[in-house]
Amino acid sequence: MNQAEHASDVIKHVDLTLPANGGKVLMHSCCAPCAGELMEQMVANGIDLTIFFYNPNIHPLREYEIRKNENIRFAEKMGIPFVDADYDVQDWFARAKGMERDPERGRRCTMCFDMRFARTALYAHEHGFPIITSSLGISRWKNLDQINDCGVRMAEPYDGMTYWEYNWRVKGGGARMYEIAKREEFYAQQYCGCIYSLRDSNEWREKNGREKIAIGETWYEEKLA
Ligand code: SF4
Repeated sequence: MNQAEHASDVIKHVDLTLPANGGKVLMHSCCAPCAGELMEQMVANGIDLTIFFYNPNIHPLREYEIRKNENIRFAEKMGIPFVDADYDVQDWFARAKGMERDPERGRRCTMCFDMRFARTALYAHEHGFPIITSSLGISRWKNLDQINDCGVRMAEPYDGMTYWEYNWRVKGGGARMYEIAKREEFYAQQYCGCIYSLRDSNEWREKNGREKIAIGETWYEEKLA
């Protein structure tokens, strides 16, 4: 079944209006838990959606593979095309040089969003997508203005391309994101993604008497509610 045939399987919670003149959407996805609500509501609204997975920030490789495969699993279930882009991790590390100790939401994250959205915009340009967007903004841990600013700047060089700035947290989207994650039993990552966020999360855990993060061991289920 393709995504259009899945539209009636999903409850429509929001009426979505695409920016500019509409058209097919290329959504940069960071992971299945963040992308689930966007995927369901775009399908329910009859939007022609393709997922673009480009996240060379995620470290280590095992964590990257788990997050990617979870997203593929849900995309296949919903009949949504999935583009698996490069894991050019060395390029990401080169760009992060000098920002290793920057806090989350700082300039390293701007670089990280810019890099991922630049590749998304290039692919969109080369494959005829007039609209790009991202699942990153649904997370309450992220600065939505920072993400939108990066998205708009990366789409700007391409004539006729728009970065869709919709706030997916409102109208219950933030809560549904967790409901979908539990229902689908997605992998529950414990840090943003890069080696520096893993280090900082573990430092916080150590100070607060908690166990270090164990890669590949936590999954959404009722006990994580
Ligand atoms: S904390 Fe997250 S957004 Fe910031 S650089 Fe690391 S992976 Fe990228």
